[in-house]
Amino acid sequence: MWIMIAGPYSAGAPTPEARAANLRVLNQAAVEIFRLGHVPIIGVNMALPMIEAAGEASFKEIMMPVSLALTERCDACLRIGGPSKGADDEVERFQTAGRPVFYSLAELRTAMAIGEDRIPGLDVQWIHGAPDCALTTDPPLQVHAFDKDTYILRQSKCTHFEAPFLYLLFGSDRALLLDTGAGNVPVRSVVEGVVAQWQAIHDRSDLELVVAHTHGHDDHVAGDDQFRGRPHTTLVEPGVASVQTFFGFRGWPEEPAVFDLGERPLTLLPAPGHRDDHIAVYDPKTRLMLSGDVFYPGFLYVDDGPAYRRSIARLARFAASHPVRYFLGCHIEMTRIKGLAYRSGTTYQPLEHVLQLLPRHLAELHAAVERMGDELTRTVFDDFILEPARA
Ligand SMILES: [Zn+2]
Repeated sequence: MWIMIAGPYSAGAPTPEARAANLRVLNQAAVEIFRLGHVPIIGVNMALPMIEAAGEASFKEIMMPVSLALTERCDACLRIGGPSKGADDEVERFQTAGRPVFYSLAELRTAMAIGEDRIPGLDVQWIHGAPDCALTTDPPLQVHAFDKDTYILRQSKCTHFEAPFLYLLFGSDRALLLDTGAGNVPVRSVVEGVVAQWQAIHDRSDLELVVAHTHGHDDHVAGDDQFRGRPHTTLVEPGVASVQTFFGFRGWPEEPAVFDLGERPLTLLPAPGHRDDHIAVYDPKTRLMLSGDVFYPGFLYVDDGPAYRRSIARLARFAASHPVRYFLGCHIEMTRIKGLAYRSGTTYQPLEHVLQLLPRHLAELHAAVERMGDELTRTVFDDFILEPARA
């Protein structure tokens, strides 16, 4: 990543020696950032040679305009040192653009370290948009194999800012596609590519495909039409009645249902609250809980507080009695910095949170919503933000 170092240069430094000392501090930080594997950018270093060529009178004309222009191209900012109007203006540009600002090298190092531990199946760099989507080389949908029967697809932020995750699970009798994306992507052809590959490996043809949803919001169902009329395909329409009927839920929302892909029985848990037809899917084979928009590293939008609270309690109860390894939701909206989310609608998330949340994160949310009762209030957690609808 390109990281701007913002700190005082001329501020509070009346002599050339004092300014040189300030610049040394910035350059020392640059060396550290370079050694972490990033490109350090200091506006002063680009502006000074030009000012020297143009004459001291050009300081105002060149110094800040060059530095502020550079902020456009940097992914993050490190703000160090004492008071400086110029450095604060640079920081403001990053904050406005929803890009991370760190206030110490230690903080930056910690943020960069997240996700470095190699997690089996999730050792992946997700596509995360681009500063200029016209120039992106990302595919519209990234396909990642969690294991040979479990695929995670991520839609590019450059095709839709929601950039949802889709899940494709294979069993011996059928495959399940959970969600069809936010639109503007050829989800059917990408899914068919994976299905064809799986069938070739297993010497199969005509595997049944069930297309269902975590829930019926637009950014999860927009690709449905592509599957209408596809051979060997069942599209489960969104909506509580349709979901209940197809999966055979009895006693919604309290009772789970089992949906067997063939030697791969999935447990489906009703999880209304974000939307009334929301389900979570537990796969004992991978020990993954696909938690949709109910629980993920981002804004947990709640439409129905009491229903959401009971859903979280249901998930927490389930996680207490089953060896859930990770909760995988449908979006990432948090940065790697505790409690900091990207600006909604951004198409570039260079430092995003990992996809997976852990049982301890759910326990944290569960305890908090239980304390709140049925009157949920907006709460910023380190790894997600609870966003109840305003009454
Ligand atoms: Zn949703």
